[in-house]
Amino acid sequence: MSKIQMTTPLVEMDGDEMTRVIWQMIKEHLIEPWVDLKTEYYDLGLEHRESTGDQVTVDSAEATRRLGVAVKCATITPNAARVEEYGLSQMWKSPNGTIRAMLDGTVFRAPILVQGIEPCVRNWAAPITIARHAYGDVYKNAEMRVPGAGKVELVYTATDGTEQRTLVHEFAGAGVVQGMHNLDASIESFARSCFEYALDTRQDIWFATKDTISKTYDHRFKDIFQEIFDADYAERFAEAGIEYFYTLIDDAVARVMKAQGGFIWACKNYDGDVMSDMVSSAFGSLAMMTSVLVSPDGIYEYEAAHGTVQKHYYKHLEGQQTSTNSVATIFAWSGALRKRAELDGLDDLAAYADRLEQATLATIESGEMTGDLARISSIDNPRVLSTEDFIKAIATRL
Ligand code: NAP
Ligand code: MG
Repeated sequence: MSKIQMTTPLVEMDGDEMTRVIWQMIKEHLIEPWVDLKTEYYDLGLEHRESTGDQVTVDSAEATRRLGVAVKCATITPNAARVEEYGLSQMWKSPNGTIRAMLDGTVFRAPILVQGIEPCVRNWAAPITIARHAYGDVYKNAEMRVPGAGKVELVYTATDGTEQRTLVHEFAGAGVVQGMHNLDASIESFARSCFEYALDTRQDIWFATKDTISKTYDHRFKDIFQEIFDADYAERFAEAGIEYFYTLIDDAVARVMKAQGGFIWACKNYDGDVMSDMVSSAFGSLAMMTSVLVSPDGIYEYEAAHGTVQKHYYKHLEGQQTSTNSVATIFAWSGALRKRAELDGLDDLAAYADRLEQATLATIESGEMTGDLARISSIDNPRVLSTEDFIKAIATRL
């Protein structure tokens, strides 16, 4: 049998710990037997980030801008413990943060639905995708404890020295105060990424803020979305038969609980942080969640939503058997290969990506799964497989 050919390489970003182990297994058992895999390889494992002074992360993001599609393994974001564990010369920044800043993207997260893992919300029949704005607001705030009586003001000083002031509050006693910001340019990128992704996946998009209370700040988000939609997307949405819908955040929350799913919910930074955890746990598990970073100019980076599964890795290093769920990492590969196929017009590669996903879901539906799913599955007597045996069971079906 001749292998499925690729024309443009994928940017491959290898990572750390248990997901690095899974990464090799997926390539060996699920991809390379069928696909003549072409990748431009970047090792984002922490040791290699250290030895390159983190240049490899920057190089991988630049390669993604050049080639258009990347697949990324989970990576360690160093903290003090990791600095010691790996003997790091400094606490390197989060690779996801670096890549996100360079691609100016929005992160879309959607649950992977499978028979036998039922969402807690009974009417959620199709996935709800969360689109989280990944810049500003409370994540880049400035805050202060107010020690006692006095006046707090917001002061803007223009480059020519002119000032604009707004009273925040006349304090009679102690309290707290916070200032935050966002940028028109970042909100515009967020809006474009959302509209592009909605067209790409043919789903309606909802956006909600608290603009009735935040009449300037949140209202700016609402206006920018509407202006960009009217100017560049209204016609294309009508042709695709999809809708853009704005509502108040409280109304959105109530509607989401009653909805059937199958749409994208665009969220401001904080709302996206909180709501994506709610949506993913209600759908089942973080290991059954796809995540893709989409830049406003249509560059895609696919990854799993979970981390490097450190505890399982330490068991693996001690020679103990693990049962780590590889579904989200498999779907990162299938998503990236399908996108590459679409851009390069490779029908057999697209069909392979579909079959890889079908084989993965069918394996779980037949009762063969990893421990995390067996714990929440409604299937009678599921068979718990090891990390490697689960991947091999998928390979057999494939
Ligand atoms: P984690 O790797 O997501 O794992 C947390 C726990 O969730 C695991 O201990 C495990 O629970 C369960 N879990 C997550 N993924 C699973 C899977 N595929 N299969 C089975 N169970 C799974 O988060 P963490 O342990 O807090 O973080 C580990 C490292 O990952 C950190 O260094 C962090 O910086 C990094 N991280 C990277 C990314 C990224 O690159 N995208 C994202 C988040 C975190 P049990 O132990 O109960 O089985
Ligand atoms: Mg969170």
